[in-house]
Amino acid sequence: MNSAMVSSDKKASVLIFRLNTLVLSTLILFFLLDKFLGVNVRSYVYIGFFLFTMYNYAVLHKGYINLSKITSLLFFNVLIFLVASSEPFETGMHLQFVTAGAVALALYGYEKWKWAIGFVLFSLTLDIITLKTDVSFIAWRHVEHDQAIVFAVLNTLIASGVSVYTILLISKFNYESQEALKQKDKLVVEQNEQLLKTNSELDRFVYSASHDLRAPLSTIKGLVDLIEISDNEKETENYLGLIKCRIESMNNFIAEIVDYSRNSRLEVESKDVNLNELLKSVYEELQFMPGWNQVEMIWDCPENIVINSDSMRLKMVFSNLLSNAIKYCDLNKENSWVKVSCQKNNEHVVIQIEDNGLGIPRSLQPKIFDMFFRAHEKSSGSGLGLYISMESITKLSGDITLNSVEGEGSRFDVAIPINMEVVS
Ligand code: ADP
Repeated sequence: MNSAMVSSDKKASVLIFRLNTLVLSTLILFFLLDKFLGVNVRSYVYIGFFLFTMYNYAVLHKGYINLSKITSLLFFNVLIFLVASSEPFETGMHLQFVTAGAVALALYGYEKWKWAIGFVLFSLTLDIITLKTDVSFIAWRHVEHDQAIVFAVLNTLIASGVSVYTILLISKFNYESQEALKQKDKLVVEQNEQLLKTNSELDRFVYSASHDLRAPLSTIKGLVDLIEISDNEKETENYLGLIKCRIESMNNFIAEIVDYSRNSRLEVESKDVNLNELLKSVYEELQFMPGWNQVEMIWDCPENIVINSDSMRLKMVFSNLLSNAIKYCDLNKENSWVKVSCQKNNEHVVIQIEDNGLGIPRSLQPKIFDMFFRAHEKSSGSGLGLYISMESITKLSGDITLNSVEGEGSRFDVAIPINMEVVS
């Protein structure tokens, strides 16, 4: 069963339910009116129709929408016919056949127009029989002229009220369907945009990844060729050092690809994380990177900040930012430093990783979080780190901003919610 069918069934069941409720209320109203005006009350008719309304509710409740459409319309028409044919024309009861026709059109709609027309013809036929013949199945009810006027006003009000209400309800359903379609359209457009972004990233990824993996491999091959023809031990040692360096950069690149895949594939998992401990452990893990010893660390992070977040992704982000701060230090400066500070407010914690390194030219700053973007000639990395960091932080409902002045240094501000809501 498709969703369109489900929703049209839902609309029909709402309409049938309301129709039955209306008939029930009208029965009660007419019963009271009969009593009040002193017109002979045909209790058996009321009891019969009361039981039939209950039966319709039960059929609807069981989910037999099609059956309940048929029984409700049959019941509605027969009720009108029995009452209209047993009382004077002036009471206006026959006007309810128009109501029955409107309800049939609304219930079956264009989709099942043959059923709709069938019921309209059925109402019309009963109307003509009522008006043109003396056929009547229940005892004739004598109604005085004044009483007939009351009934006529009431029947006119009910007939026009129900018709207007039915049309309004159908318009409302149509409006809601249109709105739902618009929402779906919007979703499709968004998903399309996401797909285009992913596709172009994939293209760039394949291109750059193959380049970044092949370049060090050809260098290594060239160095191995040189080692083969060299008989100088010092030279060979130098070549081996260079090979080690290339292998290291390939290793880092593969690690970044793994990070990228972990961020896009793994679900976000949140748990309590002590920020200061996490940052320090990430820093310690970087101790084997070149330059680690030469950069002074300044810590300004309270020990007791605990947030509820995804520690795997946080580690990935801080590892990238801290290693960059060390990697892009300015060797011309006397003293290189990296400062890590944390501030917490009611909803967010902001972690600042600041350095007095090379800085990033202003013109390149808008592209700094793009995939494979490198801002310096001497960048030895893949240009994936900041891209992965931004993607990861976005998954944690946070943000990273950059403040940097070329030649002076850079500061990355990472803002993350203290309590992350995991959207499953
Ligand atoms: P990479 O692997 O090249 O370091 P990133 O995505 O981590 O890739 O960084 C992208 C570029 O941004 C780097 O190549 C570098 O030019 C620049 N960059 C990143 N962090 C800093 C920093 N702290 N100081 C100066 N430049 C930086």
